Amino acid sequence: MRVGVDPLVCEANGVCVGLAPEVFDLGDDDELEILLPDVPESEADRVRHAVRSCPKAALTLEE
Ligand code: SF4
Repeated sequence: MRVGVDPLVCEANGVCVGLAPEVFDLGDDDELEILLPDVPESEADRVRHAVRSCPKAALTLEE
């Protein structure tokens, strides 16, 4: 499973970081960084929840 972000749509509100902090991080420049774009199975449910919860629909998932 791969997760990606559209940086033009993301508003860096941190919702996904709160739901899956092992996978998403906000750097000092307030740009979302994806730490684990190839999502490990152990993080899959958290990442799916984060993708559904992004208020900007900025995250994409390839199963
Ligand atoms: S939840 Fe969406 S808008 Fe918020 S930081 Fe994550 S990708 Fe960006």
